[in-house]
Amino acid sequence: MRWTQTFIPTLKEAPADAEILSHKLLLRAGLLRKLASGVYTFLPVGLRALRKVEQIVREEMNRSGAIEVLMPALQPPEIWRQSGRYETASAVLFKVRDSANREWVLSPTAEEVITLMAASEMNSYRQMPKNFYQVSVKFRDEIRPRFGLMRAREFIMKDAYSFDVSDDAAQVSYQKMYDAYTRIFARCGLKAFPVEADTGVIGGKFSHEFMVPAETGENEVVYCEGCGYAANLEKATSGIPKTAAREIGAVMEKFATPGAITIEALTKAPYSVSANRQIKTLVYTADSKPVIFLIRGDDQLNEAKLAGIIGTPIFRAATAEEIFAALGAHPGSLGAAGVKDISIFADERLRGANDMTTGANEDGFHFRNVSIERDITVTKWWDLRTVTAGEPCAKCGKSLKMRRAIEVGHVFKLGTKYSEKMGALFLDESGARKPCVMGCYGIGVTRTLQAVIEQSNDQDGIIWPLAVAPYQVCITPLGVAPDSPVMQLAEKIYAELTERGVEVILDDRDDRPGVKFKDADLVGFPLRVAIGEKSLVKGEVEIKPRGGALFTVAAAEAVARVLALLKA
Ligand code: ATP
Ligand code: MG
Repeated sequence: MRWTQTFIPTLKEAPADAEILSHKLLLRAGLLRKLASGVYTFLPVGLRALRKVEQIVREEMNRSGAIEVLMPALQPPEIWRQSGRYETASAVLFKVRDSANREWVLSPTAEEVITLMAASEMNSYRQMPKNFYQVSVKFRDEIRPRFGLMRAREFIMKDAYSFDVSDDAAQVSYQKMYDAYTRIFARCGLKAFPVEADTGVIGGKFSHEFMVPAETGENEVVYCEGCGYAANLEKATSGIPKTAAREIGAVMEKFATPGAITIEALTKAPYSVSANRQIKTLVYTADSKPVIFLIRGDDQLNEAKLAGIIGTPIFRAATAEEIFAALGAHPGSLGAAGVKDISIFADERLRGANDMTTGANEDGFHFRNVSIERDITVTKWWDLRTVTAGEPCAKCGKSLKMRRAIEVGHVFKLGTKYSEKMGALFLDESGARKPCVMGCYGIGVTRTLQAVIEQSNDQDGIIWPLAVAPYQVCITPLGVAPDSPVMQLAEKIYAELTERGVEVILDDRDDRPGVKFKDADLVGFPLRVAIGEKSLVKGEVEIKPRGGALFTVAAAEAVARVLALLKA
């Protein structure tokens, strides 16, 4: 490709609304342009890199035995009602209306469509295992689209759905995807690592997210350098000790705490109750009913852990009015002692705790000498707290660390949730009717592309890993007069490399060398071959790997050297 024949509108400065480096580079290198917030056009060079990522994804999916399909982006809302997600996923669903005022949903993912397909087509155990995948445009009404392709309203996702006859068989399908993902991100030149992920309402142990470490990532990952444990903060647990039980003392006793409505206030005189001897009472509303969560005064509630216990992802902190109606007091004086008819979920760390202080459900009063198991009717114990860095690893005891990361992929064992709801049943060997056991597996293809840039760049621009570079080689003749020896050699090398299947761009622009070099570095081609009059007099050309040191080679050897470098 000749530079003048493609379209690479590089920019000196990134537009002001590009916040993170990779977003700036996508725009500055002329790969991407914004149409609206979270909605982008891929320009030719950006599209080439995107196709490379897609190709790697397809190759590894095919290699794992998955089969490609293409499902509609336009979906009837009825199927979303059938799965129950019309309500639970409502916040991200884009809904449009046709000319007859009928509603449609723009696909944010495709569990419903594929499960319905399986319901009508997959009837026998003989048809399984199967894993269907697609690479397609997805739509999500994100509250806060940002960081370019990282959190977009319209983006490209590879989604796959496996169908198996049993839990054990589903585990094999899951592992195949896990392995394929490991290969995909490695081939893209990404340092991505799997972490245990939240399983929300579906529950179970099998969900992993693939994370790319980055300061700008929207996820917090907890990890252990001792044993390799790694989990999304939403899911992470630690080996932090439970609350020490004390000699059981007096019975629970009410005392006046005028104006003291925070954990902090009660730690001060005249009360002097340390935070680890207080019970924090948090009230939420789920299905229009109050739910109480209890955690230790020095801990933080982890909202991501709540869906699993209350059985719905739709909940919110209760308002002061709702709380007053339920408990008869305002936040700051709340407690669960003596509370009946409301579900009370207590954090595991409080199990066995006594000699605790908590609100008395009377404004201005608290209880002390509270023994949680004696004085509070706990509906269920659950892991509710947020891990912090430095806590001991539950597996090996080493101090846990935390880092930010970008989620590029997600593998999830779904079980029979969708197959039961949507009738994806099959006849097993003995003729019994059973629901298919499913898994779902996503890769944010466009997010992955940007994650590559976020991870691989320098002050001059993008440094493409070879496998996803839009072009592998940029030939930069320092003069472009058609009959000049410089341009003639450039044309010759261009023709020979192209002939060999190398993807080459020939910078045939009549521009100053400085401009051309800057652009080549900004766009980030892995190899640059510069041909100038001065070196050509000596029979030499310059080769510079992006991010490496420049060296000269005999003009006649240029093609062989480039080929060797690309193979290495
Ligand atoms: P997030 O937690 O970032 O919102 P998610 O958990 O909702 O993502 P999944 O439903 O698991 O995402 O989707 C699979 C993959 O699609 C994600 O791992 C991510 O790489 C990508 N993805 C999800 N939402 C977006 C988005 N708004 N823009 C770009 N990529 C996205
Ligand atoms: Mg996810």
